[in-house]
Amino acid sequence: MTRIFSGIKPTGHLTLGNYLGAVRQWADVDQHRAESLFSVVDLHALTVDHDPGRVRRLSRQAATLLLASGIDPERATLFVQSHVDEHARLSYLLECVATDGEMRRMIQYKEKSALERARGGSVRLSLLTYPVLMAADILAYGADEVPVGDDQVQHVELTRDLAVRFNQRYGHTFVVPRATYPKVAARVMDLQDPSSKMGKSGDAGAGIVYLLDEPEVVRKKIMRAVTDGGSEVEYDREAKPGVSNLLEILAACEGGNPEGLSGVYETYGALKKDTADAVVEVLRPVQEKHKELVADPAYVEEVLRRGAERARGMSRPMVDTAYRAIGL
Ligand code: ADP
Repeated sequence: MTRIFSGIKPTGHLTLGNYLGAVRQWADVDQHRAESLFSVVDLHALTVDHDPGRVRRLSRQAATLLLASGIDPERATLFVQSHVDEHARLSYLLECVATDGEMRRMIQYKEKSALERARGGSVRLSLLTYPVLMAADILAYGADEVPVGDDQVQHVELTRDLAVRFNQRYGHTFVVPRATYPKVAARVMDLQDPSSKMGKSGDAGAGIVYLLDEPEVVRKKIMRAVTDGGSEVEYDREAKPGVSNLLEILAACEGGNPEGLSGVYETYGALKKDTADAVVEVLRPVQEKHKELVADPAYVEEVLRRGAERARGMSRPMVDTAYRAIGL
């Protein structure tokens, strides 16, 4: 059976982008067709300045929201990365296979390190090595598929390179995984700045819809979304990024495609109203389930404990094999 690994970083509150671009696919499709592992990858949240208490809170919140979104702990393995030592153990071995040149070529490293330096801060070494830890996350489980957004494609490529190189040098050990992409809403953009992605790591802003936003807040944010010149409601990512983003969100919520919605609306206002209604409806069951789950934190803890145990059972033999293969 195909095995899938995917993760979410507890660097902020989960957004509509996380949901439509990843989590909904995990819950509705992936866990039903493959043996799935979903991880709150908290070690990855330490690569930039962070508040320890906040990371811990956000990890629990992310896990709770994944359950609320329909991840079924009987079907999929849901766990927190730092609860399973094999990730860090394997990451070190892979650092002995990766080169510093290939790490410095990673686009996300270039962008994020430049940002840190521009702010006058120093760059943590873990920001450079983070894709190696991500490779360890995937390879430790022998995952065949890694559902990702397009910003992670380069890191999955690196994971493949490291797996192939390790296998060639030390004997066949790792499955070489491949990236897969959700069909609709692979990239939800910020409502106030449709040139940048709706990301949870950014500053809380009017352009980001969070999964736990109240319906009135969702409506307000969508009604105030920036739109483009002209008045035709057409799907054109280049010429009409704001309108296209709304069409994409609406299509993702309704299960259609954004091109099919071109010309259906007469005004931007009508499009915004329908988009707001659709988002509120999509979030409603998630928010209701979340309310039940936060009332029972012991249940969430138990799910995570069992998930970590299962993840450990799967990754330990693989990592032990890699240690032996490399000569330890
Ligand atoms: P973030 O960028 O919000 O910190 P993560 O790196 O934790 O997100 O990614 C979790 C998943 O959510 C990934 O599969 C990622 O591609 C997806 N994702 C994040 N933001 C968006 C977005 N704006 N649109 C679509 N998918 C997204």
